[in-house]
Amino acid sequence: MRGGSILQRTPPHPGLLPDGEKERELKRHELTTMLVKLIRHTPEPEKSCAVAARLCYSNTSIGNLQRKFTRPLVQDLLKKIVRSGHLSVLEHASFTFAVEGVSRALLAQLTRHRIASFSVQSQRYVKFSDKFEFVTPPTIARKREIAEAYALAVNEAKKLYDVLLLSGIPAEDARYVIPQAAATKIILTMNARELRHFFSLRCCNRAQWEIRAMAVEMLALARRAAPLLFRSCGPSCVSGACSEDKPCGKPWKKVPL
Ligand SMILES: Cc1cc2nc3c(=O)[nH]c(=O)nc-3n(C[C@H](O)[C@H](O)[C@H](O)COP(=O)(O)OP(=O)(O)OC[C@H]3O[C@@H](n4cnc5c(N)ncnc54)[C@H](O)[C@@H]3O)c2cc1C
Repeated sequence: MRGGSILQRTPPHPGLLPDGEKERELKRHELTTMLVKLIRHTPEPEKSCAVAARLCYSNTSIGNLQRKFTRPLVQDLLKKIVRSGHLSVLEHASFTFAVEGVSRALLAQLTRHRIASFSVQSQRYVKFSDKFEFVTPPTIARKREIAEAYALAVNEAKKLYDVLLLSGIPAEDARYVIPQAAATKIILTMNARELRHFFSLRCCNRAQWEIRAMAVEMLALARRAAPLLFRSCGPSCVSGACSEDKPCGKPWKKVPL
């Protein structure tokens, strides 16, 4: 039975492969690197939130409000909002990120954030081509022999995937053999309130390394676009005490609200 014999295959340990074959095996996969871009955001995101906040307590027209807003006023209002925890006005500013070269393991964690909007490259409609990208965790990458065995195992899964497709199995079923290491592409949108919450959980040293790396990059980009909205963002240690049961012992630099 064709499928049976394939399923019994185990990745050969690189040490057991003749030299040339080992090189060829390893060339079949592509290591990937994470790419995070802020592709769009609400125009004047800080002012949008500040105007919304002031509107709640003002009897003037919205046009008037918008005209008289100066940067110090925006700064002052946003500080008060963050300090008081009246964060709903921060929902008026949205930020859209494009992320590539992250694993499906990251995706599973990311999509737990229910207030965000996601579009993810489909494994039903997009077949993995010969250029199969996957993520190697640094703990594995650091150990050469282990990293090679890992790459071979991933490659074996990809080979089986190709065989399944050739046997007429639809991509939506063949993908079941693809490991969580497989790289994916995501566009995600979060409003500033959700982003602050996301950063508090995922920038923490206690968060898993891959989603943390992505969150830290997103925070840097968001801060550049709207410093007043994201200045005091990050794990709980940025603005107060650590909220973790087991603190990492390496707190972030404290930032005043
Ligand atoms: C370090 C770490 C370890 C984790 N480990 C695990 C684990 O072992 N197992 C596991 O299953 N998950 C785990 N998670 C995921 C975690 O439990 C949350 O699902 C994830 O962080 C999303 O958080 P959230 O629900 O606050 O955020 P979001 O979904 O982004 O929601 C934001 C906020 O909106 C409000 N909200 C959203 N939806 C509702 C609702 N339906 N009802 C009421 N309020 C709502 C809440 O105030 C919530 O905090 C882990 C997360 C982290 C950061």
